[in-house]
Amino acid sequence: MWHYDAMSSRVVEPGRTAIGFVGLGNMGRPMAGHLVAAGYEVRVYDVAPEPVADLVARGATAVAEVAEAAKADVLITMLPGPTQIAQVMLEGGAAEAMAPGAVWIDMSTSVPQAAEVAVARLAAIGARAVDAPVSGMAHGARAATLQIFAGGDDDVVAEVRPLFEVLGDPDRILHVGGKGTGYTVKLLINQLWFAHLVATAEILSIGANAGVDLAVLRQSLLASPAASNFLAADVDRILSDGDYDESFALALACKDSGLAVDLARHTGSPSELLGLVDQVFQRARRHYGDDAGEMRPFQLYEDLVGRPLRYGHAPVAAE
Ligand code: NAD
Repeated sequence: MWHYDAMSSRVVEPGRTAIGFVGLGNMGRPMAGHLVAAGYEVRVYDVAPEPVADLVARGATAVAEVAEAAKADVLITMLPGPTQIAQVMLEGGAAEAMAPGAVWIDMSTSVPQAAEVAVARLAAIGARAVDAPVSGMAHGARAATLQIFAGGDDDVVAEVRPLFEVLGDPDRILHVGGKGTGYTVKLLINQLWFAHLVATAEILSIGANAGVDLAVLRQSLLASPAASNFLAADVDRILSDGDYDESFALALACKDSGLAVDLARHTGSPSELLGLVDQVFQRARRHYGDDAGEMRPFQLYEDLVGRPLRYGHAPVAAE
């Protein structure tokens, strides 16, 4: 354990920095694995035994209590959302267990309000906090190419940046403002992407019904001012082979969408479109279930069209 001097930031590096990692799911498991592979001492905790055993086999140390993971120099959480963050940081005693100068990095998609009590407890101890949610899907976590949006004090974000560079694409690690802004930016990214998904599904449905070849329509949209990253990358996986990204559960996508609606209300912001997109996602969750992939709302439109939207299916012009 390092000795914290409030006047100077610490050096975060393998051999010097011990990391506690809590939440070893689709995202957390590969992320913790990268930190182990980079040479960090990593203490892992999850309520599920299987990912813990997997990481121990790769060189991590299992701890029996979440508070043990928190007695590290840096505690990283990658949990489903606000409820589990409270379970770990407050009920599980992680916030109380952290040492002066240690840093809690919450990489979950959440809201600033969910971290407030824990952050206040850390401040009383002299520990620090950064929120650093990510984009890039589970394949980005596996490839260590995540986009990371960090909110926190300049010195703390700079101090823990070496860890972000192990997990993400160095060109897309952004310090977006003070504590809480990382959560907010990430929620807004998600919601715009969800809106792209719904709008693209609707446009492709109309195109297919009007008899346009879907590959040609996608190429035309990509060559136009209506191009988007969703059109360029994500929808290709649906149109090619019906891959709706089962590595991000629709239940979690709906959690994110609901948090974005709450954020709009909380800030008195306009949110007509956001509310509509949220309802489409909630409807898809009811149809396809909690564990269905995050892009399943696209299938609602396929169901309405009466067939899968796939490359190579002959266009059928409506009467
Ligand atoms: P997941 O459900 O696969 O993993 C969550 C893990 O947390 C599980 O292993 C679960 O056992 C563990 N957990 C739950 N409650 C716990 C507790 N009280 N104590 C200890 N462990 C607990 O979720 P995920 O897909 O890895 O997502 C994690 C976070 O990352 C979420 O906030 C999600 O919104 C966000 N996110 C996910 C993706 C994605 O593509 N999967 C992409 C970007 C962001």
